[in-house]
Amino acid sequence: MIKKLSLKQRSLEILIRLKRLYPEAPCTLNYETPVQLLVATILSAQCTDDRVNLVTPALFKRFPDAVALANADIEELESLVRSTGFYRNKSKNIKGACQAIVNKFNNQVPQRMELLLELPGVARKTANVVLAHAFGINMGVTVDTHVKRLSQRLGLTEHTDPTRIERDLMILLPQPDWENWSIRLVYHGRAVCNARNPACNICKLADLCPSANS
Ligand code: SF4
Repeated sequence: MIKKLSLKQRSLEILIRLKRLYPEAPCTLNYETPVQLLVATILSAQCTDDRVNLVTPALFKRFPDAVALANADIEELESLVRSTGFYRNKSKNIKGACQAIVNKFNNQVPQRMELLLELPGVARKTANVVLAHAFGINMGVTVDTHVKRLSQRLGLTEHTDPTRIERDLMILLPQPDWENWSIRLVYHGRAVCNARNPACNICKLADLCPSANS
């Protein structure tokens, strides 16, 4: 039976348990600089982080920084990122974002949400990842398919739109935990709360989850 707690208390208890279950919550994309993280995050749309990590060593060897990527031959760029899917659009966005970083932002990835959102191919999800992992700035909660599914199943949001889900989670969770919440929910989504077949019988959140065994 679900514990009788307020929504906020339940969210905090879920957060505490997720921290116990998954003590480490590192970014799973490989990168050495903020620009490389931005590029890897753009590539991760509709693609697994593992696949992106297979592609980026050769990409960053050939084009290691914003200047190199801004001046990259688009066909060569496309061939290097092809296996991540949507490679034409991703290549155009990577080149465009790096041109803006070089020309408008003095070769530095901007550290403010509204400026990051000016870059081609960068929406809140990408900006949240870059701000949190490259600069330690928690400006929002990254909402991907796992975060969306689990937040809904856990009864923490009734919305389907990622922006509104993000807003609900930002109210419920402490700001320093916004990004690590997303990473831990992704782990839990993969390990236990799968899309098709959630393993509620072994889930350590079951007594906090209104969807348990439903
Ligand atoms: S109890 Fe079931 S539905 Fe709820 S989080 Fe766990 S696996 Fe998912």
